[in-house]
Amino acid sequence: MKVLTKREELIGELISRVAGEIGAILYSLDIKDEFTDDQLALELGVEINEIRKALFAMYELGLAEYRRKKDDETGWMEYYWKLNYDKARLILKRELEKTKEKLLKKLEAEKNAIHYICPNMCVKVSYDDAISLNFVCPQCQSKLQFLDCSSAIAKVEEEIKNIDEILSAL
Ligand SMILES: [Zn+2]
Repeated sequence: MKVLTKREELIGELISRVAGEIGAILYSLDIKDEFTDDQLALELGVEINEIRKALFAMYELGLAEYRRKKDDETGWMEYYWKLNYDKARLILKRELEKTKEKLLKKLEAEKNAIHYICPNMCVKVSYDDAISLNFVCPQCQSKLQFLDCSSAIAKVEEEIKNIDEILSAL
């Protein structure tokens, strides 16, 4: 049984997310040489369109490259693919940094948004709006309550910490 390292596991997850199950399978085959998509479709018994879709998704990510060549016999364009295993670490790092960037923005937004909520769930308003409503629900006249976002903030902070740990171990 092959034991995956954390990095391999994360790359697998990333590929599954971007290029689906077929992308993950293709990548795990560890194909060192150039191949054509129709040859692979035949070998794996998968629709060629499915294979191409996965390969182009991996190409977008930077994990696959191709060159096109006209087949002399059929006159059709053939795609010759190659998987970039050596770039996997850099690509993973780039994607993790993108995710971290998004989380930092989310954290900022969570910290800035102070919400007040009606106990009967009629309204959810910002601090400024709560002031102009005198902290009273405009619909049922209940007193607006402060909505504690600290657990949401802690959750985002935890996710950022996890990414930082993975990044430093890559
Ligand atoms: Zn209300």
